[in-house]
Amino acid sequence: MSSIGEILQQDQLRLAHASGLSALDARFEVQLLMAQALQINRAWLIAHSDEPPPDTAYMQYQGMLERRLHGEPMAYIFGEKEFYGIRLHVTPDVLIPRPETELLVELALEYIPADRACRVLDLGTGSGAIAISLATLRSQAQVAAVDMSLAALQVAEANAQRLGLSNLQFMHSDWWQQIPAMPLFDVIVSNPPYIAVDDAHLRQGDLRFEPISALAASDAGLSDLRCIIGQAPRYLAATGMLLLEHGYDQGVAVRSLLSDAGFDAVVTHRDLAGVERVSLGRQRG
Ligand code: GLN
Repeated sequence: MSSIGEILQQDQLRLAHASGLSALDARFEVQLLMAQALQINRAWLIAHSDEPPPDTAYMQYQGMLERRLHGEPMAYIFGEKEFYGIRLHVTPDVLIPRPETELLVELALEYIPADRACRVLDLGTGSGAIAISLATLRSQAQVAAVDMSLAALQVAEANAQRLGLSNLQFMHSDWWQQIPAMPLFDVIVSNPPYIAVDDAHLRQGDLRFEPISALAASDAGLSDLRCIIGQAPRYLAATGMLLLEHGYDQGVAVRSLLSDAGFDAVVTHRDLAGVERVSLGRQRG
């Protein structure tokens, strides 16, 4: 039987060929899959690469590799994804948390005091990534997280439960529909769907496997952002903040939606890739 090193060498080529990943990325991924199957870390793999893998672990590895060769995202194969230092359970019912969304969390934290109560709302919570990060880092805050997908809410609630968070509440709502008019929120955040429905990216890579309702929006990707921004003033306390993730080319449009809705101090922040990613505005006092 082939050694772990030989198997990985061969499969790295298969994966790079099937997925278009670079040789280095493909190598990293097959190592992660093997490490997962063997329940060990990558360092062990490298040190024991001349040994054959145990039969059952090898079969498990082959099953996972097959899924990856068909394009399924690593996060769905593993059933988890790390976000803001927190390990989150994910299923195909939720968008896979992205590193660029950590910018939204970072900025929101600036407006949520660590030493006193504050009401926070996360619209379209998906896996719960944003709401859970905020609730974890701001234990005095009361965070409400809503989603229109019951399946997503189940994932988010399970994540919150596993982390033992008690300052987080879930609600089933299509954007504002079920959200009570009172009490008002101090901070509202959202990473809504913002990709144009005809964008070719939706048919590439991980996105093909993610819920389209979490990714795409009509009106060049702006319809949900428009709905959120238009109603937010009714739900925000005086000087409350609205923070939104959006597409790299939507900064101008989102800033003008925010200004038109009466927000002041409107600004956009760039993500680590240098593109406009998160815009925010303050409700007038
Ligand atoms: N940033 C994600 C992507 O382009 C999309 C997330 C979203 O639509 N909210 O892959």
